[in-house]
Amino acid sequence: MHVKQIGRGLANGLKVTASHLLKRPITRPYPDQRAATPPRFRGAHRLIAEDCVVCHACDRVCPVDCITIKGYRGEDRKFVLEQFDIDYNLCMFCNLCVEACPPTCLLMGPEFEISSATRRELVWTLKDLSYTKKSEKEGSL
Ligand code: SF4
Ligand code: SF4
Repeated sequence: MHVKQIGRGLANGLKVTASHLLKRPITRPYPDQRAATPPRFRGAHRLIAEDCVVCHACDRVCPVDCITIKGYRGEDRKFVLEQFDIDYNLCMFCNLCVEACPPTCLLMGPEFEISSATRRELVWTLKDLSYTKKSEKEGSL
């Protein structure tokens, strides 16, 4: 009786396994294949620096105070962005900074591979965050 139950259990298990043998796998061989991120995905930020008016709205609204901005007033009285850092040791990808930006020049992109070996490397600077209007139009954000 006991042996019969084991045999039935085994047969059922093999039946389930066999039914999945010819199906396409749901998982992907990451990192060779990356899943497409949805349009409103909250990945690493992108800054269209030429449009930034150095108003500090993003900086002020950030709940964890992880944005550092420095700028100066240029000869034409317009503010020039000098430093824009986001510390990804602290950022929680809440999107509040993006919502607060008046000229909508701060965005969240599809990049999620931001891990690093040191804490220092998790502080992204203007160079890492800068994005151009041309790239935005081409839809490569
Ligand atoms: S996403 Fe949130 S936590 Fe990250 S920088 Fe923006 S406001 Fe701060
Ligand atoms: S809110 Fe926008 S315009 Fe103002 S400092 Fe931040 S990124 Fe620049």
